[in-house]
Amino acid sequence: MTQQITVQLAETKREKPDQTNLGFGRVFTDHMFMMDYTEGTGWHDARIVPYQPLTLDPSAMVFHYGQTVFEGMKAYLTEEGRVFLFRPEKNMERLNCSNERLCIPQIDGDFIIEGLKQLIEVDQDWIPTAEGTSLYIRPFIIATEPFLGVAPAKNYTLMIIMSPVGLYYKEGIAPVKILVENDFVRAVKGGTGEAKTGGNYASSLKAQEIASGKEYSQVLWLDGVEKKYIEEVGSMNVFFKIDGEVVTPALNGSILHGVTRDSVIQLLKHWNVPVSERRLSIDEIAQAYRDGKLEEAFGTGTAAVISPIGEFLWGEEKIVLNNGETGELSKKIYDTITGIQKGKLEDPFDWITEVPVSAAK
Ligand SMILES: *Cc1c(COP(=O)(O)O)cnc(C)c1O
Repeated sequence: MTQQITVQLAETKREKPDQTNLGFGRVFTDHMFMMDYTEGTGWHDARIVPYQPLTLDPSAMVFHYGQTVFEGMKAYLTEEGRVFLFRPEKNMERLNCSNERLCIPQIDGDFIIEGLKQLIEVDQDWIPTAEGTSLYIRPFIIATEPFLGVAPAKNYTLMIIMSPVGLYYKEGIAPVKILVENDFVRAVKGGTGEAKTGGNYASSLKAQEIASGKEYSQVLWLDGVEKKYIEEVGSMNVFFKIDGEVVTPALNGSILHGVTRDSVIQLLKHWNVPVSERRLSIDEIAQAYRDGKLEEAFGTGTAAVISPIGEFLWGEEKIVLNNGETGELSKKIYDTITGIQKGKLEDPFDWITEVPVSAAK
């Protein structure tokens, strides 16, 4: 699938946002990448065009049955003005896994990364420089065929949009409070929990809304069958440090395969910190807490990288970690991964892909 990527530049450039108050995902760069799929022809018409609204038929299938997938990645600007992507091939692999689950045609990951690199080059001025900032990248695919029948669509559009972002949590890397969710579930084995697809997030909003109303940042999702085993925290994977060992729930068919999760496991192994992927019940966590063995807990994901957890509320029981302060290991992992992403630390794992951008602006 070697194809040309056409480029149509925006005539007017938009004003850049205030870097000290970027927030997350509200401002978008001047351009976007698009590509269409038509049954029989395959993926075609790769193009970089000015960021713009779409025209879609109201019967486009994505609006009705949610046939859509997405990814979340970031580009980082180093102090020397180099632009880095973090393990983009893993995101493309996962996009194809999501595609497979949602009956969306496979994409050529290398070609999409090539398109992404060109898009970043065009919009390189949008990569923020302030501490903790980056350019968030959102590739996604929607079913565009105008048809109300329930079946895989015959037409799709893939797009990549980009947004300069600050720290994901207003609190920065400060610990968050988490409500253990006992009523709603995020996913079940055999469902779509392993896919990054819109429906998973739509169905998580209710629990999130209730948690927010109680001043908790996110919910801790338990398994959908016994409501006993820990799955994820909000839309992040979750890790616990218990008596010197780091434990994260094993990938079980309903947990999203996080790139950050995988990176944290690699890093811990590299440091010879004991780490295991296994089934982990909420009872075990509460017991470890009562025994004084629960040392740290944190969520992992591209947006926040590491999000330390200061407290869980499980029914009536409050589980407070590390006096509600960021744990030593959580901080060390955060500093190391963000250090590699920003080019401040060496990259012994070959995680970085450099985006060739023309010399300093
Ligand atoms: C995207 C996502 C994650 C984190 O994945 P990363 O690749 O680390 O960003 C974890 N859980 C859910 C449900 C997600 O959607």
